[in-house]
Amino acid sequence: MTPGRPALREPSRTAPRIGVLALQGDVREHLSALHAAGAEPVEVRRAGDLTGLDGIILPGGESTTMGRLLTVFELLEPLQRVLAAGLPAYGTCAGMVLLADQVRDGRPGQPTLGGLDVVVRRNAFGRQIDSFEAQLELDGVGEVHAVFIRAPWVEGVGNGVEVLARVGGHPVAVRQGRLLATSFHPELTGDGRVHALFVQMVRRAMETQQPADQDRQDDKMAAQETEKGAP
Ligand code: GLN
Repeated sequence: MTPGRPALREPSRTAPRIGVLALQGDVREHLSALHAAGAEPVEVRRAGDLTGLDGIILPGGESTTMGRLLTVFELLEPLQRVLAAGLPAYGTCAGMVLLADQVRDGRPGQPTLGGLDVVVRRNAFGRQIDSFEAQLELDGVGEVHAVFIRAPWVEGVGNGVEVLARVGGHPVAVRQGRLLATSFHPELTGDGRVHALFVQMVRRAMETQQPADQDRQDDKMAAQETEKGAP
């Protein structure tokens, strides 16, 4: 490193830093699945925790409650901003509802993050089948054992959205660019392949985005240092 130049880049940091929204849900399970997939997991509880993230997981829970907590913890707008700026995100179940541009059977005024060009129906599988498990074929991953808990399904997809898996004809896993969403909970089955898929998406996003962005940032910081050091 050039002497006097600030240490902006951590040369040893190859593991993507991936946040897990820690307001509700299987936070610990997501953190350990991310760790197993070679990422550096970070709990996200407040807006400052979003700094330096390469991706984020929005866990399951209750999307209405999570929406309310996002507002209370002043995370709603900061999260909307980082997502709009292209932060890769993976939403499971309620996390899928939060990412959806349109929500059916939501509460009136239910706050969401949006960004994923899909219509999602909450609790879509009905009250009789509150929770169930199914074997399904997940595109790019293979056969997975999927756990559904008061799960949503996807009822409409925009042009840029790939459907990766279906149950009874209904899409339950989708991807749109840097966004991934599943109706089911891979963190509960100890099968790390879906988290590995997301970590791979994050790595790709880092490769395609970072050099230019980081160099620009380095130059800006170096310029600021020079200014500070100028007599
Ligand atoms: N039914 C919940 C909702 O709409 C989702 C359930 C879950 O995340 N397991 O937010």
